[in-house]
Amino acid sequence: RSLNGRVAVVTGAGSGIGRAIALRLAEDTARIAIWDINAAGAEETAALIRAQGGTALAIAADCSDKAAIQAAADRTRAELGAIAILVNNAGIAPFTPFLDTDDDLFDRVIRINLRGPWLVTRQCLPDMLAAGWGRVINITSSSVQTGSPAQGHYVSSKGGLVGMTKALALEFAPTGVTFNMIPPGFIDTPMLRAAPIDADAFAATLPMKRIGQPEDIAAAAAYLASEEASYITGQVISTNGGRYMG
Ligand code: NAD
Repeated sequence: RSLNGRVAVVTGAGSGIGRAIALRLAEDTARIAIWDINAAGAEETAALIRAQGGTALAIAADCSDKAAIQAAADRTRAELGAIAILVNNAGIAPFTPFLDTDDDLFDRVIRINLRGPWLVTRQCLPDMLAAGWGRVINITSSSVQTGSPAQGHYVSSKGGLVGMTKALALEFAPTGVTFNMIPPGFIDTPMLRAAPIDADAFAATLPMKRIGQPEDIAAAAAYLASEEASYITGQVISTNGGRYMG
């Protein structure tokens, strides 16, 4: 389980799934850079990691803003060292019926959920290529498999992220850098609790009769980040309690 003190960037780690991933990778000895637009949330996660004996750097950054991401990468390298692991987790998930959706909202969702991972990956990848070792883990969504009403913008953005992951997995397959995806099912986070979904009623419809916990996603991320996953790229670990298969 040891990540050998490698530096991991986790975007959106100030809350929910990203926080659980950051805590888990830190447990596995990675040194964590938390990049989140929410400064207070990022600091809170960093404090939790330090309390469990780990190393964490909280950086307030909008992952869709190129200058902010460049500055975050520079600071991460200066304070922690070369970036070896990247988890593109930051995202937003509004619900708005298609015909009522403002075009600006579409642009905002694409900017954060798709352009964000594009920009962040471009900043982090050169370190991994120089080392001949790297892990990029993209948090997609089971809604790419199932669709989701009133989320045309969101599902479009996550579908784009699936395509990006596959393209980069092939382009960089010979380099020692892998690109994989985790599409969460319904996971108990502030995002889900803010959605117009009755999470507890939904849980009863799931094969496992429970919605997922952020730690369920963190366990999949820890595996993909590990040495054990070195022959896996362009793949998907669907973490959804058995609801969607294939
Ligand atoms: P969350 O809202 O609890 O956390 C998201 C984090 O991302 C927050 O800390 C937020 O501040 C940060 N963030 C938002 N915009 C940002 C930006 N522009 N720059 C930097 N940080 C930004 O949500 P979550 O449920 O933990 O979701 C994490 C990821 O998992 C998202 O990509 C989401 O789409 C995906 N996902 C979640 C579920 C679920 O059921 N919770 C299901 C499928 C996919």
